[in-house]
Amino acid sequence: MTDVWPDMTPIPEGYYAIPDPDDPATMTYWRRAISPKASVLKAWPAKAWNGPAVPRRADVPEDPADRAAFAAAWTESRRVYMTKVIDTILAELDDARRRFSTFAIRCWSCGRTLRDETSKTYGIGPECRSGMDPAALARFCVPAVGRIHVEHLATVEDGPR
Ligand SMILES: [Zn+2]
Repeated sequence: MTDVWPDMTPIPEGYYAIPDPDDPATMTYWRRAISPKASVLKAWPAKAWNGPAVPRRADVPEDPADRAAFAAAWTESRRVYMTKVIDTILAELDDARRRFSTFAIRCWSCGRTLRDETSKTYGIGPECRSGMDPAALARFCVPAVGRIHVEHLATVEDGPR
């Protein structure tokens, strides 16, 4: 395959918030990390997932040739999505950082203001979420917060000042 994955090298380490390229009504959160072993751009927080979903086992064809084609199609959809994400982050670098850092949200359980990155993207504070499954929080709460974030930005940018 000749299609190349986008170059994320120019993206500095840190946290970014951009509207989902495939669903602009939902904000997506990203963490760029660089270490001697790895250079990654991952959905934030850990266990969150943005873009084309990982196929369920039941959806994967049994025939080896079909399976290879299925895997290639999925990889391509992922490549196309990540290209849009990286292009957007690079185009909006400063805005994407500011969006992440200035977004203020309150705990949906107790109403207190949330301060750390994980709590802000879950929409719930550390005490209120103790005992809750991080994977479930990442899967259900992060997209909900992302939609609220986009609505909030629309109010700030379009509404009366
Ligand atoms: Zn709380």
